[in-house]
Amino acid sequence: MDQRPLPLSQIRSLVGPQNVLTSQEDCACYGYDASKLAASPQCVVFPETVQAVSELVKLANRHLIPLFPRGAGSGIVGAAIPKGGGIVMAMNHFNRILEIDEDDMIAVVEPGVITGDLQKRVSEHGLFYPPDPASLQFSTLGGNVAMCSGGPRAVKYGVTRDYILGMELVLPTGSILQTGKKTYKGVVGYDLTRLMVGSEGTLGVFTKVILRLLPAPEAVRTMMALFPRIENAALAVSHILKSRIIPSTLELMDQSTLEVVENHLHMGLPQDCEAMLIIEVDGREDLLAHDMAQVETICKEKGASEVDVAASPTDRERIWRARRAISPALGRIRPGKINEDVTVPRAQIPALIHHIRRLADKYRLTIVSFGHAGDGNIHTNIMLDRKNHDELKRAEKAVEELFRTVLDLGGTLSGEHGVGITKSPFFMWEVGSVGYETMLKIKQALDPNNIMNPGKMFLPDRAFFQP
Ligand SMILES: Cc1cc2nc3c(=O)[nH]c(=O)nc-3n(C[C@H](O)[C@H](O)[C@H](O)COP(=O)(O)OP(=O)(O)OC[C@H]3O[C@@H](n4cnc5c(N)ncnc54)[C@H](O)[C@@H]3O)c2cc1C
Repeated sequence: MDQRPLPLSQIRSLVGPQNVLTSQEDCACYGYDASKLAASPQCVVFPETVQAVSELVKLANRHLIPLFPRGAGSGIVGAAIPKGGGIVMAMNHFNRILEIDEDDMIAVVEPGVITGDLQKRVSEHGLFYPPDPASLQFSTLGGNVAMCSGGPRAVKYGVTRDYILGMELVLPTGSILQTGKKTYKGVVGYDLTRLMVGSEGTLGVFTKVILRLLPAPEAVRTMMALFPRIENAALAVSHILKSRIIPSTLELMDQSTLEVVENHLHMGLPQDCEAMLIIEVDGREDLLAHDMAQVETICKEKGASEVDVAASPTDRERIWRARRAISPALGRIRPGKINEDVTVPRAQIPALIHHIRRLADKYRLTIVSFGHAGDGNIHTNIMLDRKNHDELKRAEKAVEELFRTVLDLGGTLSGEHGVGITKSPFFMWEVGSVGYETMLKIKQALDPNNIMNPGKMFLPDRAFFQP
């Protein structure tokens, strides 16, 4: 879509002049996300009411102006990038927790609420909102819903979609739609709530979300287990889950990750082990010691060379210190990285890790893999200097080969980060042409002028209106 001059006076009168930014410097601050891609919007608006959002969307339709909903800009695949210019709709003013219902265990929130803030607030009521992306201290619930974010707790508690009962949103034509109810059950009509979760800002702007909460677990226990061979770690993971214990966290760090973290922290992590697992169980205090003992036995039986159960909060902190140090440690080895969050059936984790090692050798790259072993979601970080064109080309080839293998192993190209811009060239590989056309038809039906977050998911070289 070509850049069109914006009807700025109408925009200012809709949202108030104090809620419109147009300077180049201000616009640049809303044109990036954690993908490191960037594009400058023509203006940034901060609507305060659902009516203002609706009127803005109608205006954008009349003038064919692209609109880009935005939370905290922490997305990794460029889904919030205002590609081609247009209006960024920053949802910062929608930052209220409207209701926490202890009896029904439900919360109603606006989409600009920071995920960690909601978790803290509900915990004061003895309640629990489980989805825990590592970005929870700064990412917003609107962004989490749009990307269907996950995190370490997904193995036991699922991902964002499992906690969304309904929402209020403004459709790409400006109508205000309510989906779902404050009930756990509800089967009247198509499940529009589920359609919206993971829609990456392409099907509407969320203005209110109804969330399901759980009772907060009484206690948590943490353990670390070291495995000389990664196959044994994978075997331990599947036996733990088969033993009817569902850990709340089952994290894996591969040998390259252990090496990078040890070089950064010098905390005595072994360099000759192919895998480390961090395992947590949570629930009723009186049952946890039994569960942890069983997990420990399974790890030892399946070949762990060392098992360390945290006896105190300090011990627990020491175990998590290694996991949390991965990002800063990676920053020390190369200036950039390509971070993919491929996901395979759990039994295929060793095959995936071995394939990644072969790619590292073949393309002369440092590749560091870690992630959520409990749900097969392995974060694969190809370390590089993007200014080194030869290295970048090799890394891109490695990504393509990685994606082909993941699909051959029965996996998915993204467990939690989404498609956005960076994965759009590979979108069809996974969903196939019928899947692609079906999704495109939904997009065209809801957004006939393609104004809502254009240039995401669907291939840029396929004309939007092609039959
Ligand atoms: C350090 C770090 C760690 C991370 N860890 C994880 C992790 O563990 N798990 C994980 O899943 N992700 C993770 N992420 C990725 C990112 O934080 C998530 O994708 C997050 O949900 C994005 O939220 P946001 O508020 O930043 O959204 P943004 O990046 O601003 O936007 C993301 C998408 O949501 C859309 N959007 C935002 N608000 C609305 C709205 N109100 N209505 C409609 N669409 C909207 C945007 O248009 C865009 O398409 C991490 C990112 C970083 C930087």
